[in-house]
Amino acid sequence: MTERAQRIAENVERFVRDVVVPYERDPRLGSHGPAEELVIELREKARAAGLMTPHILDDGTHLTQRETAIVLIKSGLSPLGPVAVNTMAPDEGNMYLLGKTGTAEQKARFLAPLVSGEARSAFFMTEPAADGGAGSDPSMLQTRCERDGNHWVINGRKAFITGAAGAKVGIVMAKAEEGASLFLVDLPNPAIVIERVLDTIDSSMPGGHSIVRIDNLRVPADQMLGEPGDGFKLAQVRLSPARLSHCMRWLGSVTRAQEIASEYACRRHAFGKPLIDHEGVGFMLAENLIDLKQSELMIDWCASVLDSGELGTVESSMTKVAVSEALMRTADRCVQVMGGTGVSGDTIVEQVFREVRAFRIYDGPTEVHKWSLAKKIKRAHAGR
Ligand SMILES: Cc1cc2nc3c(=O)[nH]c(=O)nc-3n(C[C@H](O)[C@H](O)[C@H](O)COP(=O)(O)OP(=O)(O)OC[C@H]3O[C@@H](n4cnc5c(N)ncnc54)[C@H](O)[C@@H]3O)c2cc1C
Repeated sequence: MTERAQRIAENVERFVRDVVVPYERDPRLGSHGPAEELVIELREKARAAGLMTPHILDDGTHLTQRETAIVLIKSGLSPLGPVAVNTMAPDEGNMYLLGKTGTAEQKARFLAPLVSGEARSAFFMTEPAADGGAGSDPSMLQTRCERDGNHWVINGRKAFITGAAGAKVGIVMAKAEEGASLFLVDLPNPAIVIERVLDTIDSSMPGGHSIVRIDNLRVPADQMLGEPGDGFKLAQVRLSPARLSHCMRWLGSVTRAQEIASEYACRRHAFGKPLIDHEGVGFMLAENLIDLKQSELMIDWCASVLDSGELGTVESSMTKVAVSEALMRTADRCVQVMGGTGVSGDTIVEQVFREVRAFRIYDGPTEVHKWSLAKKIKRAHAGR
């Protein structure tokens, strides 16, 4: 590991533990995420500490994926850490996509305010199940775009759009004859109506997750990313790194849950000895340690594949499944070790357990990844 990444990771860890953790019980934290005022306050502190968007360097270049991993894991030590230092989803993936595929003008207008942490963004792809739109199967995309002179006009509905409420930048996927395309849009926008913010299992993402209606949204042609029909190809650029960065942040959060559960098990006594000395409890914490280490190693393996220039679609599928399932098991065991305290709001273990559950669904449910891996196995064996 490079010295520069180690230094950034150490600084991020210190900042999250000393400055961010005390905010974990702030009354401005609601069921739809931290209030805007709290996001701004946390980001001012991160900026003052020189830790805003720590995985993107001053010259605009990114740390490598292996370097990013050790930084993002530390940012995840608190569910509020990625919000504070601007390593959160969907912004981190959106910045990556814009950095790789935007024109100079698009980067100056849409990427710069994201990197500085002044603006937040949203990625509009999923559509409501009730409309028969795109979910696990993106080819079911229903949102349409039509050319009108030097503009495109977009109509449709979207679902689960993280951070749409309060975002300044949107990346919208819509379909024309040429296929799916991605558009950069300014938010808020009168043609993009937030119908409602969903009540979900998680609560740490600013703006929550919204159902959105797009009514005759006019977008200048130069705000399209790439060429007409490039949508799925460009989404692939974002896909593997974004999946992997979820693994990184969640590894940080579940590692902290394990710290809290271990401390509890060493301190709390039952039947004449500390809980950890009861084999049933000690084994749960030991299994956690194994799952955490395996997650770390898979992240590092997948990151090195991406660093070698590969798209890493298969590797990121395998890593996403393995890590999301391992971290879910680990968070569950942390709750169990802590008894009633584990399900109370007295520690973040309860929040981590709740929130990591959704990670088995977004960026591809476990079953969809396994199904696509099975198809590849079948293809590899065809004709043998
Ligand atoms: C917290 C959260 C945040 C999100 N943020 C965003 C966002 O910012 N932008 C965005 O565009 N989307 C977002 N999403 C949407 C997310 O990407 C979708 O939920 C996901 O792609 C699954 O689609 P779906 O919910 O419609 O599930 P469905 O397509 O209805 O699938 C339901 C279940 O069917 C099973 N299934 C589906 N296909 C197969 C298969 N081939 N083989 C076996 N089983 C299968 C799986 O178990 C799956 O969980 C978010 C979702 C969540 C939960």
